[in-house]
Amino acid sequence: ERQAYAAMKDLPAETLDGHRVHLLANMAVPEETDALVESGIEGIGLFRSEFLFMDRSSLPDEEEQFQAYKRVAAAFGDKPVIIRTLDAGGDKHLPALALAQEENPFLGFRAIRISLARPALFRVQLRALLRASAFGRLLIMFPMISHLEQLRGAKAMLEQAKAELRSEGISFDEDIAVGMMMEIPGACLQADAFAKEVQFFSIGTNDLVQYTLAVDRMNAEIADLYSYYHPAVLRLISSVIDASHRAGIWTGLCGEMAGDPLATQLLLGLGLDEFSGAASVMPKVKERIRQATLEQAKQLAEHALTLSTVEDVVQFLKDKTE
Ligand code: PEP
Ligand code: MG
Repeated sequence: ERQAYAAMKDLPAETLDGHRVHLLANMAVPEETDALVESGIEGIGLFRSEFLFMDRSSLPDEEEQFQAYKRVAAAFGDKPVIIRTLDAGGDKHLPALALAQEENPFLGFRAIRISLARPALFRVQLRALLRASAFGRLLIMFPMISHLEQLRGAKAMLEQAKAELRSEGISFDEDIAVGMMMEIPGACLQADAFAKEVQFFSIGTNDLVQYTLAVDRMNAEIADLYSYYHPAVLRLISSVIDASHRAGIWTGLCGEMAGDPLATQLLLGLGLDEFSGAASVMPKVKERIRQATLEQAKQLAEHALTLSTVEDVVQFLKDKTE
């Protein structure tokens, strides 16, 4: 099996009828960079910038962040590296931010909500990201956007950081792409409006499932209710992808679902443009893509969307693809 994957390393993630998608990897710490570059992966679909803020009592300054982002951007050369701005709160405890204890942390002060409420903190990260963009192909992504005003606010801060760097004579990628996570059902339902103001979407199924089904992603007691094969989740995914294509932008998926081979042809058929999961599972996903035709995948997805239970969806996918 390993040999078969090695032979596939340099082959594109392309269906039998010539439809090309992009397979990227998620990354948690920059120490993984060299191994990921070696693996032949097409880029980074989710770089969780939280790692820089964890297990420490002080905040990383602009220079430290710049060096970390630059290292990854430069290592991947002209391959894309999508860096997500700070996604603190929820399950990610960052002592340096001194956040209050909350009753419902996943519904509380987290991610972009923190960045917008603490502009001094956000500004440092945006400047570091922009500076690093001069050294590779970096894309910026905002987490946990639910309201259009948040996206506009974040983009305005980005523009402000660009203006500062320009006046300081510091170079950055003027055309840097900006995207957002689609991980809150409300944002998915309003995808049309968001699609006009970003260059890409990345669906975060880990949170999207939790928020759509009101099932805590960390609670083992109710884990049997937590599934990205729930028909409601599939409908949201489908509508986000369709809305992005109507607006002429692309959609990726960076939750666990992207690395699940059982979901590959379904996502392909729903029109997903980019898959980003753990590098170790992506060869299997590539294999599934190379075995499929887009036509078959579309039919598969169309039928899957008519099913009413998780069990029916899973059984159908097993029958059809395994
Ligand atoms: C997600 O929510 O699916 C996601 C990719 O982000 P995280 O797991 O970091 O919340
Ligand atoms: Mg998330």
